[in-house]
Amino acid sequence: MAKQLLFIPGPVTCASPVLDAMSQPMIDHRGPEFAALVARIEGGMKPIFGTSGDVVVLGSSGTGGLEAAVSSAFSPGQKVLSCPVGVFGKRLAKIASTYGLDVEMLETPLGSAVDPDALAARLRADAGHAIAGILLTHNETSTGVQNDMAALSAAIGTHPATVIVDSVSGLGASAFEMDAWNFDIVVTASQKALAVPPGAAMVAIGSRGWERVARATLPAFYLDLRKAREFSELGQTPWTPPVSIAYALDVAIARYHAEGAVRVYARHDRYARAIRAFAAAADLRIFSQPGAHSVTVVAMHVPAGLEASKIRAALRDRFDVVLGGGQAELKGKIVRMGTMGDLTPEDVRYGLESFATVLREQGHAAATSAAAIAGRAVLDETLVAAR
Ligand code: PLP
Repeated sequence: MAKQLLFIPGPVTCASPVLDAMSQPMIDHRGPEFAALVARIEGGMKPIFGTSGDVVVLGSSGTGGLEAAVSSAFSPGQKVLSCPVGVFGKRLAKIASTYGLDVEMLETPLGSAVDPDALAARLRADAGHAIAGILLTHNETSTGVQNDMAALSAAIGTHPATVIVDSVSGLGASAFEMDAWNFDIVVTASQKALAVPPGAAMVAIGSRGWERVARATLPAFYLDLRKAREFSELGQTPWTPPVSIAYALDVAIARYHAEGAVRVYARHDRYARAIRAFAAAADLRIFSQPGAHSVTVVAMHVPAGLEASKIRAALRDRFDVVLGGGQAELKGKIVRMGTMGDLTPEDVRYGLESFATVLREQGHAAATSAAAIAGRAVLDETLVAAR
């Protein structure tokens, strides 16, 4: 199969050394080599989470990490305030209701970020502290919206609810300060900004998070964070881990720190700005509201008269460029272009030029090459910065 340029928001293009790492021989997952490997992964993830607390690795996708968080942190019937801003936030709420929690939704219009004032007002009204948990999404992949987590942290203030954050498609791509923001459990996954194949979830748990987990009584077995902690202390995972993914993660985390978090943040930010500059010049409306833009995925309205599926098919079949479509009620209405993964500025440039060509051919005259040049101008900053 020809190599495709993946601009879907995960799984993403992985660097060759990351993929190569997976061809190493198997080791005893209860032996000293695996203990050293898992210790490097957990230690290397802490600064990315912004925590000095614990990080555990689960053999699951991101959803498993989120289920682990919910099922390990609460007791039957407890009330949680869910703050979804799209499909993935709603899925987190669904996990909570599946476990019998009493889920209240703080509604936000699609395309917007959670309003910190609305969250603060709801929590102020909860004088009796009936709300035991708050469920947040750092980056909502379905709408290209990123919440202002510092502002949400301030809005929560001293409310004692256990705060669980889905940062599956956010962590690593922009600054995240779990400890400073008083988040209790934060979940991410291997196949997003860390640019590793899918297969591992990383869950960070702070000291207050562990206190809550110790008191929680919901049933959990495979995804029980208490077991994950117990085995992490032995340099193991409770169940057979995805050893090859652990090899890849180890290399990817080392590459992340070698590039440096600040450069990684700048790279995602520039790629996202380049795509938005292209969209503005090509008269494609951005779905996320100003101030709520994600750095890992840009969602754009499909121009009137065009079909998302045809745009994506032409890009894939003729240019090996793969964009994401819309999910749920946004299916057919938006296309999404991600910035995560081992993508060079030239890759992004090629992606935008191909996108311009396809849009033009399918009748969107505004997608001139000038639009691609607008994206290119932002990308050129990358080259200047790299010098
Ligand atoms: N949360 C967010 C924000 C996501 O983007 C995704 C996947 O795209 C998930 C959760 C679910 O993760 P997974 O598909 O790894 O289970």
